[in-house]
Amino acid sequence: MSVKERTVDFLDLKKLVRDIPDFPKEGIVFKDITPLLKDRLAFQQVVNHFTSIFKSEKIDQVVGIESRGFILSAVLAYQLGAGFVPVRKQGKLPSTTESVIYQLEYGTDILEVHQDAIQKGDRVVVVDDLLATGGTCDATIQLVERLGGKIIGLAFLIELSFLNGRARLQKYPLHSLIQY
Ligand code: AMP
Repeated sequence: MSVKERTVDFLDLKKLVRDIPDFPKEGIVFKDITPLLKDRLAFQQVVNHFTSIFKSEKIDQVVGIESRGFILSAVLAYQLGAGFVPVRKQGKLPSTTESVIYQLEYGTDILEVHQDAIQKGDRVVVVDDLLATGGTCDATIQLVERLGGKIIGLAFLIELSFLNGRARLQKYPLHSLIQY
């Protein structure tokens, strides 16, 4: 089949996610999305999927979570005619920031957003590559809401359902394309 004729269905997308055992540390099976991203049709399908979900929602800002979340969020922002806002690890953003401490499996981490990135009443979508326990997204939501943004939805390429991050984020419409 030629590349043009091929359509990418759900199963194909899942096949394009590569499991890397024990990365970045022992016991973690890292979901590597680079094979999916380099497949032009798969990439298009993913972007089109999330665009169709949010296109009638008058989104003001798409918030991307560092770093793999930036890839889809920036493209989605473009597609929706919205702005793009990065949420980054501590110390990466150059201007005045709002920050939040959140719990990791071992220890804590800090996420930041520029204080002027979101205006009161902005309609916001939060995007990341993968939902695991939901801690990262929960912390990001706190940042958005502190600045007065309204969460319209959460979008993830991959959801690790067995970790039940969805339960933690149940107040918000949550969309994921590939589930394990
Ligand atoms: P969590 O806060 O537990 O929902 O973790 C989600 C964040 O950690 C996302 O930014 C993911 O990119 C990253 N992450 C967690 N687990 C994995 C995994 N198995 N493979 C790839 N990324 C992961």
